Amino acid sequence: GGLRALLTWAPEILAWYEERFGPYPFSRILVVEHPTDVGVAMTAEGIVFLPRWFFARENLTASNTLTRLGLYVLAHELAHFWWGIGTGVDFDAENWLSEGLTQYLAISWYEERFGSEGGNLFVFDKKGLGEELVSYYLGFLNLREHLTELPYLELAFLGFDEAVVKPTREVRYDQVTPDRLYNKGYLVLRALAHLVGADAFQQALRRAAQEFRGKELTVAALKGIVEEESGQDLQRFFADWVWGEAWADYGIAGFRQRRTEEGYEIELTLTYAGTGTLPVPVELRGPEDRRKTLRWEPRGEAVETLTVATDFPVREVVLDPEHRVLDTDRLNNRWPRRYVWAMRNELPLDAYVVRADPSGAFALQYLNRFGFAVYPQERAAEGWVRFGRTGALSGWAQVQESLVGSVTLTRYLWATPRTGSTATYWEQVGALSLTLARLPEWAFGLGLSWSMGVARACAGSASLLLAEGGYGLSFSHTELFALGPHLYPTLTLSLGFASPELPSRFWPTLAELRFLALGEEGAPQAQNKAAAVLGLWLPPILPAYSLAQAALLSEVRPRLFLAAGQLWNDPEDRSTFLEVGGEVWITLEALGGLLVLQGVVGLTWPLLPAGPVLLYFGLAG
Ligand SMILES: [Zn+2]
Repeated sequence: GGLRALLTWAPEILAWYEERFGPYPFSRILVVEHPTDVGVAMTAEGIVFLPRWFFARENLTASNTLTRLGLYVLAHELAHFWWGIGTGVDFDAENWLSEGLTQYLAISWYEERFGSEGGNLFVFDKKGLGEELVSYYLGFLNLREHLTELPYLELAFLGFDEAVVKPTREVRYDQVTPDRLYNKGYLVLRALAHLVGADAFQQALRRAAQEFRGKELTVAALKGIVEEESGQDLQRFFADWVWGEAWADYGIAGFRQRRTEEGYEIELTLTYAGTGTLPVPVELRGPEDRRKTLRWEPRGEAVETLTVATDFPVREVVLDPEHRVLDTDRLNNRWPRRYVWAMRNELPLDAYVVRADPSGAFALQYLNRFGFAVYPQERAAEGWVRFGRTGALSGWAQVQESLVGSVTLTRYLWATPRTGSTATYWEQVGALSLTLARLPEWAFGLGLSWSMGVARACAGSASLLLAEGGYGLSFSHTELFALGPHLYPTLTLSLGFASPELPSRFWPTLAELRFLALGEEGAPQAQNKAAAVLGLWLPPILPAYSLAQAALLSEVRPRLFLAAGQLWNDPEDRSTFLEVGGEVWITLEALGGLLVLQGVVGLTWPLLPAGPVLLYFGLAG
């Protein structure tokens, strides 16, 4: 049913492509719902594979939740009949010609059909509770801004940006290859279309699709065709943005204006950082929707002034209002700076998000880069800032009897495990953190955490704590082994030690044993602890069971465990604990599968000291 409904759109999409980029190169299309649980669509000659995953979640929480996302995927797959299938490409080095151009067609169609501004991904005809819920959580999502530009901003922020065209063996950041080819790839083509003009670019794509049908299209050939159709020399553009690693941050730091006899003279203070430039549209906005757009050709200097005459007073200046150029930071693209008062979920790429509640609590945030919050009633404040992939700084403070608080400096640790590809793949494998706290006693903490999932699967942490002349040490490590298909034994070892001077509230806690953690006073503490947990993950059950369409019970994973632990202050007098149990980890999905919740339900049987079987449950993110 869902597939058939989606396919009624295929003629419209194909007609739109045919009109602009030439006829559909095959005589028919076979669309197949592929039965695996992987949410990936694919295209081959005359065949489109769409995932069953999608159709099982299409009506989750609200009917037709995923319809527009599905149309975007369908538009992408159909566009491959022009790029990547209709014209062949070198998939190793020049896959951009397949995925980037396909994205360009799909997003162009989508924006013409559904509008380019604001929340255009989760829109409903009907009103209802489910629809309200999806709109509240996801209603702000814009296809281009949040699904293509935000991933580019993120990879630039993390220092994982590289050229869209290069051989696989030279790829340095393979973990972001899809974002680089599809999302940055789309943005590069959007910038090119803007540079040469939309009509010339469309004409060039039409020629490329026709001249290279059934042959291999190359980047050099595409460049030649776009140059011919536009009459522009594009050597610089391709060298910088296609084969090269150019980046740019355009900004505005303010403007001044004065009255003249004819109107107003505006002096813009513009800022630039980067290694490549593109002409930037600049929009001056005045009262009563008066607007003037000009083109700024950055000279590559850190600060430039630009003087413009207008016949209206300027209230606001916006650089690149339609996001036509690649810009690694849009927060500085407006003067005055923009603040969005968030009433529901919002994620502007060019503004601070401000939240406040009647108690006076106030928070300000920009993406995942920095944020702070003030809670006047609690006389408390907190803040954090991230430094790309390098690390982060965070802290909080509160006025109690005296000022208490802490500051933590975190350094992220990365490794490049072997993946079987010739490209280099980066995995975050841990964090090193330093904490200075006043509670109100001074305390100092040094922490190291690690987790790996690519070459092997393990996780753990170690820490040192100094407070009031005492010290504490802790260590924990879990290793996951592969015994057979979906059969994973795990082993966890934990150790803890506290010197007698360390305040007892910092002493090691034996929380590894479920029945102890469930105790009324919480898990017990002592100066020394040792624990071992043997676990076994069993094959999951995939019920795909719908809970009245509000949520989908998609996975149930059973786990068995045997846990033992000791606590002692005096080595001659140790308390020993032992338990055996089983639990199931349950995955629930809502909002079309875009919100995933995990919960656990289990039984534990204390063997030492012997006790009754206990039931427990919990929810995880
Ligand atoms: Zn594709």
